[in-house]
Parts: sequence; structure tokens; C-alpha cells
Amino acid sequence: MIDCHIHIERGPYTLEWLEQFIATAVSRDIEEIYLLEHSHRFHEFKPMYQNVRAYNSYQREWLEHKSRECRSIEDYMAFISQARKLSYPIKIKFGLEVCYFEEAEALIREIIGQYPFDFVTGSVHWVDGFGFDHKKELWDNVDLHHTYLRYYKIMQNLIKSGLFTGLAHPDSIKCFGHQAPFDLSDIYDNIADLLMEYQMYAEQSGGLHLNYSRECELGMNAKMKRIFLEKGVHILTASDAHRPEDVGANIADLARLLENSSL
Ligand SMILES: [Zn+2]
Ligand SMILES: [Zn+2]
Repeated sequence: MIDCHIHIERGPYTLEWLEQFIATAVSRDIEEIYLLEHSHRFHEFKPMYQNVRAYNSYQREWLEHKSRECRSIEDYMAFISQARKLSYPIKIKFGLEVCYFEEAEALIREIIGQYPFDFVTGSVHWVDGFGFDHKKELWDNVDLHHTYLRYYKIMQNLIKSGLFTGLAHPDSIKCFGHQAPFDLSDIYDNIADLLMEYQMYAEQSGGLHLNYSRECELGMNAKMKRIFLEKGVHILTASDAHRPEDVGANIADLARLLENSSL
């Protein structure tokens, strides 16, 4: 089993911290893990969050809080280089989860082009500045039709940018239970075609279920899953763990859901 989305952010860049993630992976029969950091964790990415900061005071404060703990990618790379010198009982990849903004492609390209990451997963966390996955109240007065359309348009552009190895949590817009007021089949179809064209994997993510609410659907919605599988999209299971004890969380169930729908 594989867990392709694990945040190491809540601890220091030390081998002791890394070992805690490996220990949980081994105990849960996970053979390969992808460790990553959010782009908002680094000074280098700060300029691309301008619209997010301007969107409302809640988001500005959230970013200010995050930027107090900001690190440099150089420190992260130094840790990765140190970790790569050792051998482990499982396979480990090191990378980033980058918030995608259409207007920031050049900046993202410039930054990630400088470092030898094993993978870079792209995420839509912000829809024209709106942090849709933060608080349910922020959805008051939001135009659902427009937000869904833009969410997937941004995702299509994310893939077409050619910057990323994988696509994180491809239907995370459902985080607070809002459903699209129109049929998404054609959009899912196009996203599947683009993922194939750009040779990217998509995540079968348990992040909402793990980090938001047990009420949240585990993995991608049934329609998306069927379309992605029919088109042959490479799908990897992802916990979206933010602490060592969550490595591999729900991975067996996420894999089973994929197998059941491909029967
Ligand atoms: Zn994410
Ligand atoms: Zn994540």
C-alpha cells in the first residue's frame, strides 16, 4: 500500500522526527510514503498569496499566523539531502504540496525548478482568493454554481501548467457538504483526459474524512472515480496525514473503494 500525501510540518527537520512517520507506516503495512510540506510554509512562496490575504481579514490573519512559522525551502532541502543518505525499510519520496494560482505559474516554476524534489503535487485550495476549505461560515452568500465552475477551471489550468506530478484531493470542494448545482460529468471527463495527457496521478484522498469530519465521504465521489478509472487515470491513495500517528490512516479502505469500483 502507498500513502502519497503526508505532511511533516508539525515537527523539526530531524531524522528522529522522520523515523516516527516511518514507524507508523511500517506498523500499517504501508510500503511507500510521499512526505511533503505546504507551499505556505515557505518564505519563497509568500508573494503568490496576495489575493488570499486581500480576500478577508480572517484569511489575512490565518496567513500572518502561518508566516510566523515560515521556513526556507533551503532548510527543507538540507533535511531531504540528509535523509536521502540513509536507507529505510520502506520507500520514501520527498516533495511539496503547492497551492496553485493561475497568475503564479511563473513563480511556482521558478521555485520548484531549482530543487530536486521527487514529486510536486498541485492543489486547488483557493478559488479566486476564497479559502473554501477553512470555515463553513465563509460559504454564506457564495455563488455555488460559479464557485464550482471556477474550482474545476482552476484545476484544469493546474494540470495544463505542466508543473505538477500529481493532483491533490480532486473534489475537496465538497468539504462542507456543498454539492454542485449542475452535472459535472463532462468536466470530470476533461480532467481525466488532461491527467492522462500530462501523465499525472490523482489522489484518492481521505483528507476530509481524517481532518474535517467523519461525515465526509472517504475518497473521491463515485462519478469522478468511475470516470477516472474508465479513462485509465493513475490513482494513488493518500491519507493527508498531518502527524506521524496518522500515516496510513484510511489507506486500506481507500484502496478497497477503488478496487470495488473497478470490478
Ligand atoms: Zn491540500
Ligand atoms: Zn495536504
